[in-house]
Amino acid sequence: MARGPSLNLSIAEKRYATNAAPVLAGIDLTIAPGSVTAILGPSGIGKSTLLRMIAGLDTQFSGSIQIDGQSPIDAPPPGFVFQDPRLLPWLTVLDNIRTAGQGVDTATALSALERTGLTSAAKLYPRQLSGGMQRRASLARALAMSSGLLILDEPFVSLDRALVGEMQDLVAEIIAADQPTTLLVTHMPEDAARLADRVLILAGQPAKVVADIHLPSPVIFRDRKDITSHLRTIEGAIGFRTRPEI
Ligand code: ADP
Repeated sequence: MARGPSLNLSIAEKRYATNAAPVLAGIDLTIAPGSVTAILGPSGIGKSTLLRMIAGLDTQFSGSIQIDGQSPIDAPPPGFVFQDPRLLPWLTVLDNIRTAGQGVDTATALSALERTGLTSAAKLYPRQLSGGMQRRASLARALAMSSGLLILDEPFVSLDRALVGEMQDLVAEIIAADQPTTLLVTHMPEDAARLADRVLILAGQPAKVVADIHLPSPVIFRDRKDITSHLRTIEGAIGFRTRPEI
């Protein structure tokens, strides 16, 4: 995965139907190349909607999104890790990676499998993998895309604690090595404290960015003390910003 692009978001409004209430409004952001931005907010606020717009999967909104100056449709497709692994059950793990996008050749797919510890699983089918291995395969598929934009939508959801730690370490290694521009949607402040150098908190209806927090310590060197301190900062911002008005 290449070093990441910069993102410029100027989203006036997103609604799902002309007469429906807007889901997102007034989102103006610049995201630096190679940064890791966590997007936090309650379920249903519009996090996945925003990711789909950035990935070019949803173009029905007013405003603009630029990825190194290109629209999401024209920009190279991002590596996308969804909440569920979405592996094609009739293909081997290797073929799932090889068919991830145009230009993913066998060498690229094998390298992505090696980096995610799945070399020995290349010829297996998704049903033969544990839940943790399926998540890693989904990460390998995103890695094999060479755009430099890595989009993670609740990538650790429903994994047990030990596996979450393993996956977080793997993502941290990839981020440190390749410096993709990473967007991490999560409802867990702990994920953001471990992996992000910037945290955006979405709240309201329509949703806006109500807090924009920068976490200074480099992700790869972050120790338990740093993570706890970042977690306090994030939780403080969530508690303050999302408290109902009295
Ligand atoms: P989050 O990812 O924060 O849980 P979503 O982006 O999935 O939130 O959803 C934001 C809002 O948009 C929700 O109210 C949801 O019901 C609505 N929504 C999402 N997808 C669609 C769709 N395809 N059609 C209509 N409404 C949708």
